[in-house]
Amino acid sequence: MSDLIADIAVGVPLKQLFSYRVPDTLSAAVRVGMRVRIPFGRRTTVGAVLALREGDGGELKELKELLDSEPLLPEGLIRLLRWAADYYCHPVGQVVKNALPGDVGSDKTQTKILNEPCYQLLKTEPPPRGSKQRELLDFIAAHGEASLTRIREQIAAPHASLKTLVAGGYLAETERERIRDPFAAEDIPPDRPPVLNDDQRQALAAVTSALDAGGFKDFLLHGVTGSGKTEVYLHAVEHCLSLGRQALILVPEISLTPQLVARFRARFAARAVGIAVLHSGLSDGERYDAWREIVRGRVQIVIGARSAVFAPLENPGLIVVDEEHDASYKQGEGFRYSARDLALVRGQQQGCAVLLGSATPSFASYYRSEEKGLTRLELPRRVHSGALPQVELIDLREQAPEGALSNALIEGLQQTLERREQALLLLNRRGYAPFLLCADCGESFSCPNCSITLTFHQGQRRLRCHYCDYVDVVPESCPTCRSLNIEAPGAGTERLEEELAELFPTARIARMDRDTTGRKGAHQQLMTAMLGGEIDILVGTQMVAKGHDFPGVALVGVVSADSAFNLPDFRSAERGFALLTQVAGRAGRAAGGGRVLIQTYNPDHYALDCAVAQDYAAFYQLELPFRQELGYPPCGHLVNLVFSANDHGEVQQAAQRCGAYFSRHGGAIQVLGPSPCPLARLRGKYRYQLLLKGAERAQLRRLLTRLDEAAGLLPKQVTLHIDVDPLDML
Ligand code: ADP
Ligand code: ZN
Ligand code: ZN
Repeated sequence: MSDLIADIAVGVPLKQLFSYRVPDTLSAAVRVGMRVRIPFGRRTTVGAVLALREGDGGELKELKELLDSEPLLPEGLIRLLRWAADYYCHPVGQVVKNALPGDVGSDKTQTKILNEPCYQLLKTEPPPRGSKQRELLDFIAAHGEASLTRIREQIAAPHASLKTLVAGGYLAETERERIRDPFAAEDIPPDRPPVLNDDQRQALAAVTSALDAGGFKDFLLHGVTGSGKTEVYLHAVEHCLSLGRQALILVPEISLTPQLVARFRARFAARAVGIAVLHSGLSDGERYDAWREIVRGRVQIVIGARSAVFAPLENPGLIVVDEEHDASYKQGEGFRYSARDLALVRGQQQGCAVLLGSATPSFASYYRSEEKGLTRLELPRRVHSGALPQVELIDLREQAPEGALSNALIEGLQQTLERREQALLLLNRRGYAPFLLCADCGESFSCPNCSITLTFHQGQRRLRCHYCDYVDVVPESCPTCRSLNIEAPGAGTERLEEELAELFPTARIARMDRDTTGRKGAHQQLMTAMLGGEIDILVGTQMVAKGHDFPGVALVGVVSADSAFNLPDFRSAERGFALLTQVAGRAGRAAGGGRVLIQTYNPDHYALDCAVAQDYAAFYQLELPFRQELGYPPCGHLVNLVFSANDHGEVQQAAQRCGAYFSRHGGAIQVLGPSPCPLARLRGKYRYQLLLKGAERAQLRRLLTRLDEAAGLLPKQVTLHIDVDPLDML
């Protein structure tokens, strides 16, 4: 006899799907993409049905219950998830769980569908007595029907009157699902699209013709800051919707880009276009509801951060990856996927146009546009014909400053303040000082769990580890030599703020970093104050370089260019170049142009030259030989294997054994290491890495199929993390 069998992804660290028989009572209702409750070992757990088939299920256990009345995962998305699990060597159940909103994929999910009363009009005659009753009746008559939430937005305390109207036969009351919508009460006035300039029109034409053709096509939109990239996205989305398909917009971090969301909402406000925003600031319930609205086809535009690449759109036609170079598209822990790369895969699978946009494209994308046929669209000019800012280097070897700021930068700030313009200062290190040091014996203070110095936070009088959040009090004296000469050399944003307050006592100074924007809404407040001209000098970490438009900023100062270039990573030049170019782009977006001052001890660095000239093509030409020579991405491919354990000897041995195994079976693959990770100890664990390098992705993937065998060599205490296409190798 033939049974219905469900192949189910379960959130456990195992690669395979688990098969269950579907009992007759559920066989009519079960669909691919639904969550189900299943017996698993000695417990019950929740899984997702990824496939249904006929077969002999005699030996199989039965699934117990369906948790959804409609699928949460459309088939197109399941295909992407399975591809990703395979490519990133990550258990498919955990990949599915990672994609689902909030706690919906977990065993003990609390997220519920909410219901609420909904009212339909039955009659309006004879007119009811109370004025509130008449008001309610008019409101509901105008809409045909209305939910309690909608009614409450308009009319206060409607309960008693609604009850009377139902009792009097005016209204019928039914139960409806309530969608938790973070935008429900806000209205946004529609905007008027500007007429595109020639560059924008050309870029758009390329995208729309790909949309019309209907298949997969990818583009790199390389446009300097303020060149009107967002406007191209908006027009392309409009075209995509007119073809009856949906659009997915990915941004590096959505809480930093409320302006972008507002522009989309304003552009489509006049039309019945559903826009969903997916981000970590939503409650689990809001995310769950947005997800179901997307599955049901009530949403045409999804805007979200990294994990929104898994938005359950049925038929996306366009995927935009804004600021595609941004490292936050890569998830650094657990399921280490790149949302930018998966956007391209999804585009291939579902026949979409994929638009990667940036002022400073990733080296990988630019390389593909030079070498591999990715179409590059250029927006070389700013929209408001504002000149690009004038960038100058300050050589700190010639004029070493007493504090963090050189005389030249102090003078620049002085002038800016006198002209009542705004300044932005970038220092990519939060806290007061990067470490404390005993001036007598040289002892410094490190995290007991990680091989990194503790950062001194003056405001809290604490030492903090920025990796594991270890906190310690500031010692009165050196624990080694008892000296009281404890110094805090170097500067973080907190000290810079203090130094500025001393230099410019009347200036209004604010700081934007992870310490000042932790509170909900704090980031937005700073943005509003800056845009409203209530701040003269804004100090911040790389957060200030991301995606903001500050038209009033006339001076941008980079306190230390060198910190960006000195990381032990082959991408440090690329990152430094991008950061400096991005932050320089914040200057003088309005008329008049702006000035950018960059402090450095190493003014001869090639990437610095290119950043000063804001010349991406030149940077590319200088960087390419390094990558080619060493076979580093994109001229080769990497997989990083990170071993960690509490015991140093154990992890070292395990890494060596695996290294030997891969050297034996690797063929053309180069096996580098094992060596201690640059962060040799993290959160109490010792860490070693083994880097696999290959000219072809296919070779690496073939080797990875042997990974299980290699992992079998590891003792249980040693954890192995696989990072395919690693970005961060600290
Ligand atoms: P980017 O995304 O490249 O930084 P934006 O699309 O945000 O650039 O454009 C910068 C500013 O110029 C925005 O205020 C935008 O509304 C405006 N803008 C863009 N394109 C045009 C245009 N063709 N005509 C007039 N204003 C435009
Ligand atoms: Zn000492
Ligand atoms: Zn630590």
